Amino acid sequence: MPTRTLETDYLVVGCGAAGMAFADALVTDSDAQVLMVDRRHAPGGHWHDAYPFVRLHQPSAYYGTNSLPLGGDTIDLHGPNRGFYERASAAEICAYYDRVMQKRLLPSGQVRYFPMSAYLGGNRFASRLSRDEYTVKIRKKFVDAAYLEPFVPATCKPPFEIAPEARCVPINALARLDAPAEGYTIIGAGKTAVDACLWLLETGVPPAAIRWIKPREAWLVNRVFAQGGELVGTMFEGIALQVEAAARATSLDDLFQRLNAAEQLLRVDEEVTPTMYKSATVSADELAQLRRIRDVVRLGRIRRIEGSAIVLDGGTVPTRPHHLHVHCAAPGLNPAPAVPIFTAARITLQPIRTGLIPFNAALIGFVEASREDLAQKNRLCPPNRLPDVPLDWVRGTLIGLQADYLWSQDSALGDWLEGARLNPSRGLRNRRGEPRVQQAAKRYADHVRPALQNLQRFLAQGTARGRGEA
Ligand SMILES: Cc1cc2nc3c(=O)[nH]c(=O)nc-3n(C[C@H](O)[C@H](O)[C@H](O)COP(=O)(O)OP(=O)(O)OC[C@H]3O[C@@H](n4cnc5c(N)ncnc54)[C@H](O)[C@@H]3O)c2cc1C
Repeated sequence: MPTRTLETDYLVVGCGAAGMAFADALVTDSDAQVLMVDRRHAPGGHWHDAYPFVRLHQPSAYYGTNSLPLGGDTIDLHGPNRGFYERASAAEICAYYDRVMQKRLLPSGQVRYFPMSAYLGGNRFASRLSRDEYTVKIRKKFVDAAYLEPFVPATCKPPFEIAPEARCVPINALARLDAPAEGYTIIGAGKTAVDACLWLLETGVPPAAIRWIKPREAWLVNRVFAQGGELVGTMFEGIALQVEAAARATSLDDLFQRLNAAEQLLRVDEEVTPTMYKSATVSADELAQLRRIRDVVRLGRIRRIEGSAIVLDGGTVPTRPHHLHVHCAAPGLNPAPAVPIFTAARITLQPIRTGLIPFNAALIGFVEASREDLAQKNRLCPPNRLPDVPLDWVRGTLIGLQADYLWSQDSALGDWLEGARLNPSRGLRNRRGEPRVQQAAKRYADHVRPALQNLQRFLAQGTARGRGEA
């Protein structure tokens, strides 16, 4: 089959949350021609592989793309998410991205979409179904929207051996069980494991039937302070409390104690010092549920599951062939290093404000559409790699605060931020008159300078400690 040649301004590889938010922003603010390629059958990325009971851990109100709302922007009145903005399920998210492609991007006349197509490198891609191959002549830039593709249990083998007589399934299989297991061992310390535990408890499995193998303890973000919309004032109060904690902290350890005391970072077990931070979000009710699980194994990572024993780095615990071991041990967030977002021929989509993949990708789309100068684009968009350990909270917060300051000095960007539905702090401007927002603004202004100095110092110390220098 001969190779066909296509021409475009931007070749976007990846139609997950990042690629979709970027393309939407670019098409909104420019007349660029965009060619989008993804090896999956539909847009939405990893959400197509997600376990059926997963939900966003942030409100739907600021996930997706700027052009189309996701969900109804309402606060849930019942259920475990009561009092918080609704959070979409994987099915809703996949349907949403299909709508964005079909109702927004393709009708714009600026976007061509090639699903079931694998990017081969060198501006070439091939259909996974026919033998068609394409070479793309790019007038402006190649956009890597797959750089931070997450690793999920459905597509990542467990990082340990499993003997043939042991029963171990990815979390996705939990929802397809047709008979109760003798007991459930949840393997992993991140959001996926949290979701597995909560879902089992919610569906009536007694806590005594659940064992949780946690190689690490995690700092978790308090969902109360991760709301927008009507509750954006509370979010700002949270940011001001974080800045105050950073300003007053005398050491890295003291910083995390203060963040914990100010209810900004939470942990399931108050007795254990977390060594993990992936910005997963949790509510107080969820924490209370998770604390009902008493059988927590902290013996490091699993090496092997046998028929009657689980062998870990730090010891062995018994198990049985009819016990179900649930693989929640994929890394989730991609640990790829930060690289410049803009180069002459390439855009590599990465966060600027911690997490918030769609918001950051849309902002990069707007900056690409509205600015010419490469150095200025990179100054406005410093890369902020996805977090893994507590020190990443320090780095991520520092980069985010510095970027927020730069954005506040740029009136066009300020206007864009105020209009962007993906911006969680949108609407704050209109609430400046509220006493609690004024109090938070004062707290922020009083502490932001020493906070930035301390965060820089802690980051340098923590990085040196990581290299064994201190
Ligand atoms: C369970 C879970 C819950 C999460 N919840 C949130 C949340 O609430 N809020 C939040 O901000 N973040 C959340 N995240 C973080 C998550 O990383 C982002 O929300 C986002 O969905 C990631 O999007 P992405 O576009 O970077 O990656 P993906 O969704 O993986 O998209 C990348 C796409 O690139 C395609 N691709 C890769 N290589 C090629 C190739 N060679 N050729 C063609 N196509 C290719 C893939 O097929 C894929 O569709 C969550 C992550 C997980 C795992």
